[in-house]
Parts: sequence; C-alpha cells; structure tokens
Amino acid sequence: MTDTAGALVLFSGGQDSTVCLAWALDRYRHVETVGFDYGQRHAVELKARAQVRAAMVAGFPEWAARLGEDHMLEMRGFGAVAQSALTADRAIEMTARGLPSTFVPGRNLAFFVYAAALADRRGLPVMVGGMCETDFSGYPDCRRDTLDAMAAALNLGMAQAFVIETPLMPLTKAQTWSLAKGLGGEPLVNLILEESHTCYLGDRTHRHPWGYGCGNCPACELRARGWEGWVAEGRPVIRP
Ligand code: ZN
Repeated sequence: MTDTAGALVLFSGGQDSTVCLAWALDRYRHVETVGFDYGQRHAVELKARAQVRAAMVAGFPEWAARLGEDHMLEMRGFGAVAQSALTADRAIEMTARGLPSTFVPGRNLAFFVYAAALADRRGLPVMVGGMCETDFSGYPDCRRDTLDAMAAALNLGMAQAFVIETPLMPLTKAQTWSLAKGLGGEPLVNLILEESHTCYLGDRTHRHPWGYGCGNCPACELRARGWEGWVAEGRPVIRP
C-alpha cells in the first residue's frame, strides 16, 4: 500500500503532527519533516520535535528506513508581525472578533508557502498537515476549504501539482488517539504520551494520564478531553 511519492510533514512535535508523521511514514516511501521557528515562547516545543523523531526511529524500524531529513525554517520575522498569545506575553482569551488570542493570523498560510518552497526544492509532491476542524479550533486557517484554496494558489503560483493531505481533518481529538493506535499500536500511543508536546505554557513538569502539560490552558484541556473520551469509549482503533 506504499505510495512511491515523497511527503513533507509539517511537524511541530505536538500530538496532532506526531500522528500525522506516523500516518505519512505508514503510507509514503520517503518522508521529511519541516518545523518553523516563529518566535514561540517555549523552546520545549522545538525540543519535542527531535525527541519524537528519535523515538520513532528507535521504536519503529520500518518507519526509520523511510524517515528522511528534518528541516527547521526560521520565521521570526513573521512571528514579530503576527503577534499573538503564543509568541508574546498576552493572556489566552477570546478576542472581539470571536477568535482565541492564540490565533496567529495567517500562520498556517505562511507555513504552507514556506513548506511548498522547500517541497519544490526537495522534490516532494505531498505536504501533510495536522489541521483539524472537528473539535474546537475556531481557527479559520485550519478549515479544509482554506487549505484547498491554498493548494490551488500554490500550484498556480509555483507551476506545481502539490497535494495537501490533512488526515486528522474529520477526526475528533478522541479519534486521533484511535488513529494513532491503528498506526502504531500501544507503542505509538505511549510515544505520543511521553514525547509529544501540546501545552501552550510549555509545562513539562506535570505528567497526567494524557501526557505532560499545565492541565489548564486550552491546548491541555482539549488534549485531556480527547484522551478521556477515547478511554471512556474503550480505546477503539481506526485503521489507516
Ligand atoms: Zn497547558
């Protein structure tokens, strides 16, 4: 079932992009990862990327053979322009526009422009992102119609035929755990619990049943709710 194409995974070291990386390694012959340094407040996020990749290489030999280079792109200029609670010391709250203050305007769009420039150079026709419109989010750049428009613009503007895959798009956070189990069984579930990082506050000192985090920020709440839902349903499996 392996697709002979190569894929570039937008990889932050969080739960969602870790599942996306596993999904891509299960499916594509060759997979590279790209991360973005846009002035995140927490270097812990960037450290989690290396740890997740290392744990996948150590625990999944068949994936290790497919996992190629990691690329880190510097986007601090963008972070300075599009300040939000993730890059500056602002409270995490709802803004007057009805968007959470954690929303970084244009962030996913900018990521895909950079990722596409890299994918073009690396000869990778597929880009994989962990965007999801099912649970909360409220992020307009996580919606599939936004990404369809983005892919159309990139392909027109770069004379390319990129495909943007978003395997988590229709899944709830509980179902994301189901997919993880379907991809890599309990070892992958444990890898995500131990190594992936989601907490907005960068907390790696408090270990909960669902992984590390402060337990109170919106990202922790979403992750906790997803885990609890999955456990309550008896840890079902979604086969990729
Ligand atoms: Zn948190």
